[in-house]
Amino acid sequence: MAGALLIALVARPGDASRHERIELSPPRLAPVGVGGAPSGGAVMTARTQRDAPDTGEYGLVPEAVTPPTRAEAAPPEAREWQSVEIAPGQTLSGAFDELGLGPSQWMPLLEMDEEGISRLRRPRAGDRIEVQSEDGELLALRLELDEFRTLSIERTGDGFEAWTLSADVERRPAFAFGRIESSLFLSGKAAGMSDRLIMSMVQVLGYDIDFALDLREGDQFIVLYEELYRDGEKLRDGEILAVEFVNRGREVHALRYEDEGGHTSYYRPDGKAVKTAFLRNPLDVVRISSHFNPNRRHPVLNTIRAHRGTDYAAPPGTPIKSTGQGKIVHAGPKGGYGNAVIVKHGGTYRTLYAHMSRIRSGVRTGKHVRQGEVIGYVGSSGLATGPHLHFEFLVNGVHRNPLTVPLPRAEPVPKSEMARFESRVKPYLAQLEALRRTQTADVSN
Ligand SMILES: [Zn+2]
Repeated sequence: MAGALLIALVARPGDASRHERIELSPPRLAPVGVGGAPSGGAVMTARTQRDAPDTGEYGLVPEAVTPPTRAEAAPPEAREWQSVEIAPGQTLSGAFDELGLGPSQWMPLLEMDEEGISRLRRPRAGDRIEVQSEDGELLALRLELDEFRTLSIERTGDGFEAWTLSADVERRPAFAFGRIESSLFLSGKAAGMSDRLIMSMVQVLGYDIDFALDLREGDQFIVLYEELYRDGEKLRDGEILAVEFVNRGREVHALRYEDEGGHTSYYRPDGKAVKTAFLRNPLDVVRISSHFNPNRRHPVLNTIRAHRGTDYAAPPGTPIKSTGQGKIVHAGPKGGYGNAVIVKHGGTYRTLYAHMSRIRSGVRTGKHVRQGEVIGYVGSSGLATGPHLHFEFLVNGVHRNPLTVPLPRAEPVPKSEMARFESRVKPYLAQLEALRRTQTADVSN
């Protein structure tokens, strides 16, 4: 059952919303029933929303900057906001035309420095530009950049001033506990999880658990995650903070940690990365048509010739991803391989992708690629009987079976950061522990 954890945290005005700290309380937990605000239950109301300054009609507060004083006679609250929603293909000037504002009014805005102005220069379809104006003179403008930030501009005397308002988004910790009955999806649903949250869990744990093959009835999981609220209304589920999954008796943990450099990733309690340095497969939907086989008869050449990779059958045009980050050392035709890309991953590993219909533009020798970046598309160039991806994995120059080669983990938490890491993830582990006890107690009742 999903429920809000007891200590909800409020994004304080002025915090950059991406860097809010979630300080989970020590496990003062009790199972939370649906709609169960207990009378006089002090713990349930530990919200600090009321202490926040007045956040205005849109729940927005200026980010560090004090709004400029307004020089206009009419108080700005009294003026009407007019808005236009950018239609596909609509230009900025077309949008301002609709609002009755000429270029002399809005052109100066585009010269400003404020973050968010670039979005105003190139608005996306669906963006809503709101303005206040008087006699064809632009007085104020608002543009929602995302669910957390709004660009706000006001006329000040003979110029304009711009700032970014951060929405008062509140992150409330929540949890879900599930037990696998038939499928992960149904168990997740039964645990009150959204599709998005279930998919996040699959992504986070997918390096350790093959959800298509490994799940067993009786497997259990506990997920700690964030729910995002604005003005008291739930926007959506946020990130998974910690998850514990017991698969066939094996415990797998993933703990979210933002390192000193501001990069966020998932780690095990001992600081090892959850992610592997490589994806197992370079395609999303996988059908293997020919396995790694040192003694195979070649289908085109009809001679015994080792098959030194894995073939994935897929429709022409299916995107092919680099399975690891690295540097491209070949991108172009290569004999029987047809259009091929070779990526070098540090000094030890190389991966090769062959028979592409086309190599993605920009993928060139010397360029760097990230794990999961699309490098080309399935085809049948070179010696191929039909559209498929031929994929090779080399360790120190030796071909290995891509499906079984042990994959190295991504970088662990650096030694110098271990103390920091441990203090950050300790509350998560304590929460998981407390929830496990509570849920187990529930079951035995
Ligand atoms: Zn092949």
